[in-house]
Amino acid sequence: MPIKSLFLLISMLFLAENLAAKEYQWSNKLTFLGFLKQHNIPQKTYYNMDQDDKELIQEIRSGQSYTIEKKNNKITTIKIPVSDELMLQLNNTKNGYVAKYLPIPYEIIEKTISIQIKNSLKKDLYNATKSWYYGKELEEVYSNALPLQKMKKGDKVIIFYTQRYRNGKVFSSPQIEACLIEINKKPFYGFLMEDEKYYDSLGTKYKRTYHTKFIRPVQNFKRISSGFTHRRFHPILKRYKAHLGIDYAARTGRAIVASSAGKIVHKGWKGGYGRTVIIQHSNGLKTLYAHMRGYAKNIHRGQNIPQGKVIGYVGTSGRSTGPHLHFGLYKNGKPVNPARYVAKQSSKIIKLKGKKYNKLRKMVLKYRPQFKESKSRTIIKEESKECLNCLKKGA
Ligand SMILES: [Zn+2]
Repeated sequence: MPIKSLFLLISMLFLAENLAAKEYQWSNKLTFLGFLKQHNIPQKTYYNMDQDDKELIQEIRSGQSYTIEKKNNKITTIKIPVSDELMLQLNNTKNGYVAKYLPIPYEIIEKTISIQIKNSLKKDLYNATKSWYYGKELEEVYSNALPLQKMKKGDKVIIFYTQRYRNGKVFSSPQIEACLIEINKKPFYGFLMEDEKYYDSLGTKYKRTYHTKFIRPVQNFKRISSGFTHRRFHPILKRYKAHLGIDYAARTGRAIVASSAGKIVHKGWKGGYGRTVIIQHSNGLKTLYAHMRGYAKNIHRGQNIPQGKVIGYVGTSGRSTGPHLHFGLYKNGKPVNPARYVAKQSSKIIKLKGKKYNKLRKMVLKYRPQFKESKSRTIIKEESKECLNCLKKGA
């Protein structure tokens, strides 16, 4: 069913039961406790959450749209996305408010861009889409492996990407699933695999290099006590969890250093993250350092600092578990796996093998006819007719 008529149907159902769902935007000064107060929701709704869940609350971005559902003018449910995958759902039950994280229902539409270069890759993609996003993403897909800046008139670009929609509106950034760059009639394919990296059609990974280099924020740590996950279902707790950073377990007082050069944009208490420093780097990247015992002397908001400069010390502020540094990395405001950036650059060529290789080849076969078909014409944002992940009833 097309999205529009689906929404019409849902709104009609709402009307019939005197239900109303209204969308709001999270304002930049609003704290979660302030939000609860605004709606007469007990503060314990927050204080009763476990530590990880409290941390996730800190991920609500200003400008994030959320919905409040009411029945006969009384709040029934509040849904606030905390990431691209999970939303906090507050249900008003007979026994008071219950908070839990649930996967965000969204629709996925496949889209295609296919253009011939006239001036330059970035500029032509911008002219076609009115966005710099695609050019920047392609730079990351192929990194320095291809001379993208030297593409000439007549060279080609084809991008197959997916766009998520929530409540009929664009949600989250487009994701390139497969792409082709043709330079002097020579094709270079890129296919996105489960490890969030791109491989060519024979399974060789493109060596990603970044403009901004990152180092490990604690040099002296015991182990990584928790890795990055967008979303997982906890089998014992029977609920959804996410961990949007890397935890480095280390002794209290160990030095925490700036992972890359940048400007301090936050220094202070940040709810479940405790004492926190946030540094803004170039290219829309930010790093977050949480649970500090204390800050380094002479560091302050607005200050430009070099890579490796001590900014604070490992502690447990904001949490009751052992001392560790929670290290988050954000690209255009969205959490990404820091391991992708901090990992040592190896000169080894990485090639897919076995099952992973078979998966890639399946993808190559799926996209082959689509590449062939798209090559012969210019396509700007053509959409697939069907939806890959449509709203289930009642979601
Ligand atoms: Zn953590």
